[in-house]
Amino acid sequence: MRWVRFAADDGKPRIGVMTAEGIHDLAAVASALPAECRAPLEQGDMAAWIALAGVWRDPLGQVFGRAPVRSWEQVRLLAPIARPPKNIFCVGRNYRAHVQESSAFFGGSADLPQHPIFFTKPHTAIVGPGDDVRWDPAVTQEVDYEGEVAVVIGRRGTSIPREEAWDYVFGFTLMNDVSARDLQRRHHQFFKGKSLDTFAPLGPAIVDRADLPDPAAARLETYVNGELRQQGSLADLIFDIPTLIHVLSQGLTLEPGDIIATGTPDGVGMGFDPPRFLEDGDVVEIRMEPIGSLKNTFRAVRGVAR
Ligand code: MG
Repeated sequence: MRWVRFAADDGKPRIGVMTAEGIHDLAAVASALPAECRAPLEQGDMAAWIALAGVWRDPLGQVFGRAPVRSWEQVRLLAPIARPPKNIFCVGRNYRAHVQESSAFFGGSADLPQHPIFFTKPHTAIVGPGDDVRWDPAVTQEVDYEGEVAVVIGRRGTSIPREEAWDYVFGFTLMNDVSARDLQRRHHQFFKGKSLDTFAPLGPAIVDRADLPDPAAARLETYVNGELRQQGSLADLIFDIPTLIHVLSQGLTLEPGDIIATGTPDGVGMGFDPPRFLEDGDVVEIRMEPIGSLKNTFRAVRGVAR
């Protein structure tokens, strides 16, 4: 299944499933599912829907065929999760060649990290596929892209053993870890420069773990105005997904709907000499099958930060 949130005619968010036919509107069959499933479907609360997977997994199979299919023209896709239970968890420097380019830009050691480097982005940064990413040139002038695969947690767990980690994964989506390099440098930390409003495009869908049985074989690509800038795969991660879940969850409870962005391959703008930061009107597209394409236009808007 490719789970999506979408806005239909009334503009309200709903939960659906994307297929080649269009968007299957699950809110329309909510009354045929256990009562507690109704509110998440009708309110578009993906984190709550994921938490109920054990309740709807079987009955949904029987009513899915009755869900009306909306054509692409009738709906607008939204970020698949608007409000995760916590900030989005992110991992810095998790691909070898990106460690090199990052160190060359910021200075400092190019040694590979011995432990995952975690930071977070707030939910106020989340936007959906097709939404604009906007920045105020008075706030930052070094806006960069980072195409990433993000894991969506499906079950509550604390101190999760590495060998059980996949049981806690609901699925996968894509994220652009948009980054203000000047703010990263100024504040000596990831958080501020990664957390500006609209700096976390997410989507277009969450693909069930079962539908991406060999995630390491899938190819992740980032394009800027149609030019291929980044390509990688989860096989290249320094810390793989089970390790990230195991380490992050030590003494820290993960919940359904939590998101872990796994890091970016090399080829970001700061890695070029001279750097190629994003400019007003640039279009960044991140692709991985079967998740799809996450495409956003970047806009420099003076005064947007007020
Ligand atoms: Mg990143």
